[in-house]
Amino acid sequence: MQSTIAKFCEAEIAPEYDKWENEGIFPRDLWNKLGQAGLLCVDIPEKYGGHGADAEMALNIPCGIACGNYGSVAVGMSVHSDIVAHYILNRGNENQKLHYLPKMVTGELVGAIAMTEPAAGSDLQGIQTKAKKQNGGWVLNGSKTFITNGQHADFVVTVAKTNPNVKGSSGVSLFLVDTSLKGFSRGRNLEKLGLHSSDTSELFFDEVEVPDSAILGEVDQGFITLMTELPRERLALAMSAVAAMEYMMDITKKYVSERKAFGKELSTFQNTRFKMAKLQTELRLNKAFIKECVGLFAEGKLDAATASMAKVAATEAQCKMADECLQLFGGYGYMKEYPISRAFADARIQKIYGGTSEIMLELVARDLFN
Ligand SMILES: Cc1cc2nc3c(=O)[nH]c(=O)nc-3n(C[C@H](O)[C@H](O)[C@H](O)COP(=O)(O)OP(=O)(O)OC[C@H]3O[C@@H](n4cnc5c(N)ncnc54)[C@H](O)[C@@H]3O)c2cc1C
Repeated sequence: MQSTIAKFCEAEIAPEYDKWENEGIFPRDLWNKLGQAGLLCVDIPEKYGGHGADAEMALNIPCGIACGNYGSVAVGMSVHSDIVAHYILNRGNENQKLHYLPKMVTGELVGAIAMTEPAAGSDLQGIQTKAKKQNGGWVLNGSKTFITNGQHADFVVTVAKTNPNVKGSSGVSLFLVDTSLKGFSRGRNLEKLGLHSSDTSELFFDEVEVPDSAILGEVDQGFITLMTELPRERLALAMSAVAAMEYMMDITKKYVSERKAFGKELSTFQNTRFKMAKLQTELRLNKAFIKECVGLFAEGKLDAATASMAKVAATEAQCKMADECLQLFGGYGYMKEYPISRAFADARIQKIYGGTSEIMLELVARDLFN
């Protein structure tokens, strides 16, 4: 699988990636190419068109892409394959699985998940998007923001309030909203600090009518689904952080071994050696912990607090490494043509999406003092 990913990156991503980063989005047909190469949704059962691989292999595929410093592609893939496909597999009914999953495997359909709203990110209980019951279906109104795959998505798992009379996390449901529906529209493809070619959008729902069959899981039980599925998302983010760390260590080791100052290679200065040694130690520690988490996940035992620990530890370590490695490149590290600058810019969001570091710590603390 590693060699398939490497060949795919070399043939399909590397030659175009800079152009996509400048354009602010990678092309829609990359999804079809990823599907043809067998790189999407690999742990979906064969019955639904998947390859029946194990979760570890599936989670490692976006990491293989992140290892090449192609974070924008890796993030979109992870949302599609590791999050959306598993919401459908775990919560969907047979018709939904048969309709969406085979086409997600081939890249014919691209999935997104829309929780965040302009006024509700960490505090998802504050969402304002509403779904009102009507004969045979629901009518959705509201807006979402920062949605990965928003421009290319063919359908969006949309979180909406279905019972306005109950407070907090109750009365929330998930809908499978096809983006061809009347009243659905996409806003701007948002410009970002990093992950430039990752497709990130605002989405609008204006009297969007969906049938009852668009409900994913049970009515009013959406929050339970979100809470159940989040550990996989957090594990995926932690794994991608480690993949990016491996990449940064590789290029920095090479650079400091070649670059000279005061007549000596940078790698001979004690500061460089100790910095790199500490970063390598942090990388190994994170890898070991994530290996444990992958094992727990495979046994169905990865709890929210442990997944949060993995996410906060690995993404904080990634950002620290990005900063320290860039420093070792000196002024060149700040230049766009040096890949460490992209790794630095792409790293920053990892501490924010999928639950901020502060929310991760809150979840760990809650478990600790409960
Ligand atoms: C590139 C990108 C891609 C994204 N993709 C998606 C996607 O596909 N789908 C989706 O639904 N969302 C997505 N998001 C949204 C992302 O998950 C949210 O941005 C994130 O959850 C934080 O929410 P917020 O931006 O509203 O920040 P806020 O919730 O407003 O937080 C602001 C600050 O306050 C802190 N804070 C908030 N509450 C607490 C608390 N209780 N204790 C301590 N500190 C607190 C936060 O940690 C943060 O530092 C994406 C965001 C980006 C930037």
